[in-house]
Amino acid sequence: MTQTADIIVIGAGIIGAASAYRLAGRGLNVVVLDRDRPASGSTGRSVAGVRAQFHNETNILLSRESIAEYAAMPQSGYCAEGYLMLIPESGWAAHREAVTLQQSLGIPSVVLTPTEAQRYADFDSAGLGGCSYCPTDGKVDAHSLNHEYVRLAREAGARVVVDTPVTAIEKRGEVWRVNTPGGTFEAPQLLNAAGAWSGEVGRLAGLQIPVQPARRMVFSTGPLNLPRPVPMTFDLTSGVYLRSEGQRLIFGRADPSDTGWKEGLNWDWLEPTLTLALERWPWLETASLDRKASWWGYYELTPDGFPVVGRMPGVGGWLNACGFSGHGVMQAAATGRVMAQIAVGETPFIDVSPLSIERFAGSEVRRLDLQV
Ligand SMILES: Cc1cc2nc3c(=O)[nH]c(=O)nc-3n(C[C@H](O)[C@H](O)[C@H](O)COP(=O)(O)OP(=O)(O)OC[C@H]3O[C@@H](n4cnc5c(N)ncnc54)[C@H](O)[C@@H]3O)c2cc1C
Repeated sequence: MTQTADIIVIGAGIIGAASAYRLAGRGLNVVVLDRDRPASGSTGRSVAGVRAQFHNETNILLSRESIAEYAAMPQSGYCAEGYLMLIPESGWAAHREAVTLQQSLGIPSVVLTPTEAQRYADFDSAGLGGCSYCPTDGKVDAHSLNHEYVRLAREAGARVVVDTPVTAIEKRGEVWRVNTPGGTFEAPQLLNAAGAWSGEVGRLAGLQIPVQPARRMVFSTGPLNLPRPVPMTFDLTSGVYLRSEGQRLIFGRADPSDTGWKEGLNWDWLEPTLTLALERWPWLETASLDRKASWWGYYELTPDGFPVVGRMPGVGGWLNACGFSGHGVMQAAATGRVMAQIAVGETPFIDVSPLSIERFAGSEVRRLDLQV
């Protein structure tokens, strides 16, 4: 039997769930399809940091509006522990400009000297040009938030169908026809919110969407006697970040070569990461490692590290909200509102045109064999 809707959302991660909530709130008949469960993808493996400290307006606004929404949702687990950025001399001038931009958009981020920043965390300041800190940045509970958006979406009338992989997509006239083992779904609009799998979902329809999986490792120490919680702290010299998680610290660093569908925690990445971390945080040497509390997951990377948000040009009824490249949790709430506005033909409350797929140039965004 074929089920119909106004829009099919593929993916019940935080982006799909937040979008479904807002789409259903606009009176659309929404069906969400997930091959697994909410939070089973990247959302559930996230470090769940939220920050508005970006270098461009679109990302600052997506985060600002999302963080405001989380702050008003008890289920989000929002905790304003702050984000501390440790910036090398080479990047300091550009970073100062970014802080000025953030402040002009109402973000309470501040510039600090390394000595001033020591009040938030103890670190070695070698090579730093300066630091910035934003007290409204912090973390959320990404699992809980994802499930809350699913609950809200269902309450608003959306059908959220789990354990239902999308296996084929075709356009018939004005309608998208989506096949799953649980039946066929049809709708004039389709939202690709499949995270790291968005490129694959696009390929099912003959579309090229430049999102690829990139494995990320998160290492955890054993319990420590920390005098105070360590806010999310990024060392932009080495790329290492760390923050408190209860009595532990979690830390990690991107391996740029680790792309594709590689599974499992790559323990070989621990030593080079720890070596760099010890240069900045020498006191980490006394910490033990908790292998069982460490984990891995996929980032959903685009070529420029920013998401693909908006309509697919020339492909009627296809919308993308994917490729958040490690920022999806912190930007989901605002993205949901934006996608609902786009779906009903309104101008989005945040200008997301810089996130259009067209920025990757016509030659890269090829329509393969889709008939529209
Ligand atoms: C280690 C790590 C740390 C991170 N840290 C942060 C952080 O601090 N802050 C932050 O904001 N972000 C962070 N991220 C990124 C964040 O997790 C993602 O940006 C976000 O979860 C993306 O949400 P999503 O809904 O797009 O994708 P997902 O949560 O992956 O959801 C996609 C869904 O699509 C479903 N799906 C896929 N294919 C199909 C199909 N064929 N049919 C049906 N369903 C399908 C999947 O089952 C999945 O549920 C981190 C990610 C990782 C891995």
